[in-house]
Amino acid sequence: MSSPLIPRRAQRLSELGDRRFDLLVIGGGITGAGTARDAARRGLAVALVEREDFAAGTSSRSSRLIHGGVRYLEHGYLRLVFEASRERRLLLKLAPHLVRPLRFTWPVYEGARVPRWQLAAALTLYDALALFRNVGRHHLLERSGVLEAESALSPDGLRGGASYWDAATDDSRLTLANAIDAAQGSATVVNHAEVVALTRAGTNGRVDGALVRDQLSGAEIRVQARVVLNATGPWTDEVGRMEGTPTGPAVGGTKGVHIAVPAARVGNRAAVTMLSPDDGRVMFALPGATHTIIGTTDTATQEHPYQVRAAGSDVRYLLAACNRFFPAARLTEDDVVCAWAGVRPLVARTNRGDPSAASREHAIQTTAAGVITITGGKLTTYRAMAEQCVDLVVHRVGRSVRTCDTHQAPLPGERAAASAQDVLLDHTLPWRLQDIDQAVQHEFAETVSDVLIRRTTLAFDRKDQGRALAPFVAARMATTLRWTDAGIRISIDEFYRDVQRIFSVAP
Ligand SMILES: Cc1cc2nc3c(=O)[nH]c(=O)nc-3n(C[C@H](O)[C@H](O)[C@H](O)COP(=O)(O)OP(=O)(O)OC[C@H]3O[C@@H](n4cnc5c(N)ncnc54)[C@H](O)[C@@H]3O)c2cc1C
Repeated sequence: MSSPLIPRRAQRLSELGDRRFDLLVIGGGITGAGTARDAARRGLAVALVEREDFAAGTSSRSSRLIHGGVRYLEHGYLRLVFEASRERRLLLKLAPHLVRPLRFTWPVYEGARVPRWQLAAALTLYDALALFRNVGRHHLLERSGVLEAESALSPDGLRGGASYWDAATDDSRLTLANAIDAAQGSATVVNHAEVVALTRAGTNGRVDGALVRDQLSGAEIRVQARVVLNATGPWTDEVGRMEGTPTGPAVGGTKGVHIAVPAARVGNRAAVTMLSPDDGRVMFALPGATHTIIGTTDTATQEHPYQVRAAGSDVRYLLAACNRFFPAARLTEDDVVCAWAGVRPLVARTNRGDPSAASREHAIQTTAAGVITITGGKLTTYRAMAEQCVDLVVHRVGRSVRTCDTHQAPLPGERAAASAQDVLLDHTLPWRLQDIDQAVQHEFAETVSDVLIRRTTLAFDRKDQGRALAPFVAARMATTLRWTDAGIRISIDEFYRDVQRIFSVAP
């Protein structure tokens, strides 16, 4: 079945200036893309602008889990777990190409902060909050059962454990699928387009749109909209300040770091839940394409979300946990294939004291100048967040539209499996030559970074972060995007700078 075509970038940019929108969504992370999709499906005239690329912010730095959030139980966030479990169930059904079941083993060692009886109670509650409709129910395991499931785990002091289910996704492509569906449903969707100012009707009137700069040409476009939504995650306060009226902070971000290490060294078969030997925090060893991903940390940060990166101490903290649970791994900093960080856009008033205990629930507020601001939430709960936001927008716009259908509408974006004839970009990873063309022609990719960091996971999966592939990818993109030699060079250099910014480890 062929999908509706997305207009070319030049046309989308001119639409931005020509149409008068019901809703302008600022920020193309999962929250903004999901909201634009919902609004477009209901028949609103929607624009979505993203300063860099879809999912370039926190939405490409997550643990890539669609999960109820078992660790939130100990902080009493039952409503969040209930909602997230429902969303997990929906996404497994509506996006099986993007969200797949993942089995977790939780080993319990002698003296662990969470003993077996407490784990059993928590997982029973976890299943109950999922209305016993998770992929499978949890099982308590004897010591031998834990080692049968995950034979590389340390046997020393092992008392038993449990297995339970959550789901894994590709966070960038989940975000992209929402942006694509929005565009296919008549939204005007533009990445590399930054809001540089909010505009007002009259001197002190309501915000009635924004000035948007096309990052690729430098041109500025005045976008008019009845309602403006600030969905910029950890940038929320930066965009909020464009209103000019001082308010308290809306987000209080915490930093989360992941590392990728060779899966063969760790030896995990599926996901393993670990309690940090340093401070008892819950963290995970997760199966990636060819690596095991260890994460995450959760620390207060003042780092700018654009510049945030892992520190050596973060990496050592994660390696220590992995080596304690998988002693044969003997991982050192030299074994780290990739390290990256993201900023959780937590609701400011909930983030006081222990970062791990701060609420992951979301908040929707309207500022004095009429801008709707959404903060907090999770990748997992984005659809429900979007639904609430669009309900509010519909109320403001005040005309009748279709009802929300995102709880039953499948997400687009299925990739054909690689066949023997395909030219692979990396012999161990399933990304193909055609994926570059697909990314440029149908998935809004405009730069080498878009392709290597977010349309594929090559930058995360290769020890050189895809540097060696960059000239090849650029040359291939150049044929469709009609880049000159200078254009090719610019995009490659920008990719090298992005790799340094995102993946280098601060001392
Ligand atoms: C380490 C870590 C692990 C996590 N793991 C999970 C997990 O496993 N499961 C889960 O459910 N959740 C997880 N989360 C939470 C989840 O990733 C976030 O809640 C979610 O991605 C936030 O999305 P967002 O769209 O609100 O923000 P972002 O993804 O940051 O999007 C905001 C966007 O706004 C854009 N922007 C900023 N300023 C402007 C401007 N002036 N004009 C236009 N655009 C602008 C930015 O470029 C950015 O792309 C994790 C978070 C972290 C940090």
